[in-house]
Amino acid sequence: MFTKILIANRGEIACRVMRTAKKMGVRTVAVYSDADRDSLHVAMADEAVHIGAAPSRESYLCGDKILAAALKTGAQAIHPGYGFLSENAGFARACDEAGVVFIGPPIGAIEAMGSKSAAKTIMEKAGVPLVPGYHGEDQSPALIKQHADAMGYPVLLKAAAGGGGKGMRQVWSEQEFGAALDAAKRESMNAFGDDTMLVEKYLTQPRHVEIQVFCDNHGNGVYLFERDCSVQRRHQKVVEEAPAPGMDPALRAAMGDAALKAAQAINYAGAGTVEFLLDIDGSFYFMEMNTRLQVEHPVTEMITHQDLVEWQLRVAANETLPLAQDQLRIDGHSFEARIYAEDPDNDFLPVTGTLSYLDAPEEGEFVRVETGVRQGDDVSVYYDPMIAKLVVWGQDRDSALRRLQKALSEYRIGGMTTNLAFLYNLVSAEPFRAADLDTGFIEKHQSLIFKKDAAQIEHFLPLAALYLVLKQQHSASCGAPASDRHSPWNAADHWRCDGSRKHSFDIAVHGDSHRLDVEQLGRGAASRYKVTHAGHTTTLQGTLIGNQLIADMDGHRQKLQVNEDQNHISLYCYNHLLEFTRVLPDTGDADEQQHAGGLTAPMNGTLVAQLVKAGTAVDAGTPLLVMEAMKMEHTIKAPSAGTVKQFFFADGELVDGGALLVDFEAS
Ligand code: ADP
Repeated sequence: MFTKILIANRGEIACRVMRTAKKMGVRTVAVYSDADRDSLHVAMADEAVHIGAAPSRESYLCGDKILAAALKTGAQAIHPGYGFLSENAGFARACDEAGVVFIGPPIGAIEAMGSKSAAKTIMEKAGVPLVPGYHGEDQSPALIKQHADAMGYPVLLKAAAGGGGKGMRQVWSEQEFGAALDAAKRESMNAFGDDTMLVEKYLTQPRHVEIQVFCDNHGNGVYLFERDCSVQRRHQKVVEEAPAPGMDPALRAAMGDAALKAAQAINYAGAGTVEFLLDIDGSFYFMEMNTRLQVEHPVTEMITHQDLVEWQLRVAANETLPLAQDQLRIDGHSFEARIYAEDPDNDFLPVTGTLSYLDAPEEGEFVRVETGVRQGDDVSVYYDPMIAKLVVWGQDRDSALRRLQKALSEYRIGGMTTNLAFLYNLVSAEPFRAADLDTGFIEKHQSLIFKKDAAQIEHFLPLAALYLVLKQQHSASCGAPASDRHSPWNAADHWRCDGSRKHSFDIAVHGDSHRLDVEQLGRGAASRYKVTHAGHTTTLQGTLIGNQLIADMDGHRQKLQVNEDQNHISLYCYNHLLEFTRVLPDTGDADEQQHAGGLTAPMNGTLVAQLVKAGTAVDAGTPLLVMEAMKMEHTIKAPSAGTVKQFFFADGELVDGGALLVDFEAS
């Protein structure tokens, strides 16, 4: 076994790999960019080497700098994590030539899976089922169309070099085919410099079911069952589970065997994932093989009680696989929910900021929080906006789901918009409980997942008023000696010499403003507060200790957590979150901030399209331009009504995160 390894990654996966290395007594070397100097993965490592500026192409994608760091620190092996250099055959080869072990598959296996068409040809020869279609070298449009016509519409055109859904087009009829092929080829040429196409039967309600495989260098191979990753937004996974609901043992064995056949066809070694589409009739088809550890690997670990990173290190150190197929068992059920700094109400646009408040659910045997950040850390424009993966286990799907819901409700993040409420609504939706899953789940159940409960806001408003009034009392500072309990200067409860103890607060929730009138009844700890909003009056009592608000409303006692970040206040109560802004006399600052924040690049990426012409007057929310980053397209919208004066980047240009994209003048 190695005595020291370098982790060529950052964030949660770097921390995850280090946890196992530490457990095995293996020393760890982190690498970090300027943006990550004080990050958790650096703090966790035994040693750390600075490798460059914040943009990944100047640090985490620089194979030469990373290899130099390994040689300098005497690391015998490099774990690439996922993303960055994990599927880069050139980097694997450079490691090999430098005598450093690449903790991943052989170079040939990475190369073989690099093109979708070539991968399909290999899999076809190995007898792995493919989605009906054509992936040949002859690219004549008439021939491709002939194949499409023969299998019947709808069909899916895919770029052979594709990834992230680019160069993919659904075609619903013969008439649409020509235009769709042209568009897909254009998109593919722009994105990958190659317009080779393949065409597949488009499955209308498939599930994404993938098999975890593991092989060693001694001819052994096993599969560690399946994961269901059907819940996707924009073809990207967001909630995964293992085992796949409703999977019968015969189908599992057939898919497992097919996946192993796929791995053996390319002389695989290490951890790999074979992705399949599972059709409603039980047919399954090879989609692609990922030659690395997947983001969602923890759900497999939870149901098999194995540590897949430990397996990776053992295989890379030339040991045999720890277990044989007949020693592997599925125990219980596991879910993973990916918590992102993103705005589900704005097309899942990534957001950035400082994690001013972070309170994760308690970890234990059944709940794992995989994260690379702490309170006070930044989610920057440079990297993936994933904050954490919440992983739970239960004896069966229902109990695991209950734990997932509870843990999501206890996860509190302040300082930026996250997908927590979206995740909670998603996993609480009845069709999810009933495991009625397919890749269109989120679109199909939008009304359940994106609900904005007006009654919930009404319920929270008196609590917001209670917080504001108690906060004001706490922070009031007076000149009288603290020992004088009877001094009116020490009674920070709106005592007035004219006897009036009324106050009004203006707050904004989701852009709607609310006036809250509060009248204090009684004095001191026994005070009650009459809150009037839009003609409704509620009377409540409460105390504020630190950031915990205990409120008693109509005999219902509730514990809430509060996070205040400048004027943005978040009240967390079980699975509910009320976020509001205190509206203070207008200084114009808020507008300016919104203006600048809304029109900068949310992360490093490429400008894909300008949607309006410079000089155009637009309404608030008008889509202005599209950026592509992190495998997703993001629409940047007008923050208010105004005029687009100038675009600073042309279509196809690379943009650094944080760069100003548009000169926008609010009207
Ligand atoms: P990419 O590599 O661009 O991400 P994939 O081939 O991995 O593309 O497919 C991504 C997702 O697209 C799948 O998880 C599935 O939801 C959907 N998809 C792919 N192929 C098909 C198909 N033939 N029919 C229906 N959906 C598909």
